[in-house]
Amino acid sequence: EISITDGLTGLFNRKHLNETLALEFSRAARHGHPVSVLMIDIDHFKSFNDRFGHATGDHVLTNVASTLAANLRPTDLVARFGGEEFVIIFPDTAIDLAAAAAERVRASVAAQILAMPDGSPLPSVTISMGVTELAPGQSVPDLLKTADMAMYEAKQSGRDRVRIGRAGDVEPRRGGGGRHGGAPA
Ligand code: GH3
Ligand code: MG
Ligand code: MG
Repeated sequence: EISITDGLTGLFNRKHLNETLALEFSRAARHGHPVSVLMIDIDHFKSFNDRFGHATGDHVLTNVASTLAANLRPTDLVARFGGEEFVIIFPDTAIDLAAAAAERVRASVAAQILAMPDGSPLPSVTISMGVTELAPGQSVPDLLKTADMAMYEAKQSGRDRVRIGRAGDVEPRRGGGGRHGGAPA
C-alpha cells in the first residue's frame, strides 16, 4: 500500500504533492485558470531543536502543520515538502489572493501559543514564505524553484514574512535557509 501522507504531521507527502501539482498544471492550462504555490520554511528551527530537543521540535512541527491546515480552503492542498518545509497549492487562485492567504497563515503561526507536552511555555515560532503563480510554459520544478527563491529572499530580508516570486526570477542561492540551505563547501 502506497502512502500519500506524512507520518509525523498527517499532511500530504512530497510524492502526493508532486502528483497533484502535475494534475493542477494540466487543469490550469486546459481551462486557463490560475494556480499559485506557496513554499514555507520554519525560521531558525535548528536552534529550536538544539535548545528544546528533537521531540519538542517534532511537537512544534505538528502544531505548525495543524495551523497551516486550519487556515486553508477545502480545495487548497498542504504538504510536508521535507524536514521543516511545507508547500501549499492554491488551485484557481491568482497571486494576489495567494499572497493574502500566505500573510494570514504567517500571522496565525506567529500568534500561536506553544507549550511543551508538560505545559511549560515555548517561544513563538515564525515561518518565511515564497509565493508564486504558475506562468504559461513553466514546469513543476521551475515553479518550485521560483517559490523557493522568493522564500530565500524572505529569509534574507529578516524572516517571518512573505515574498512574491515571478517566473524568470533568476538568482543563485547563496546558502542559508531553504531546501538548498547551508553554506557552500
Ligand atoms: P532558517 O531560518 O535559515 O531556515 O534556519 P533553520 O535553522 O530552520 O535551517 P536549517 O535548514 O539549518 O535547519 C533545519 C532544521 O530542521 C535542522 C533539522 O534538525 C530540523 N528538522 C528537520 N526535520 C525535522 C524533524 O522531522 N523533526 C525535528 N525535530 N527537526 C527537524
Ligand atoms: Mg528553516
Ligand atoms: Mg529548511
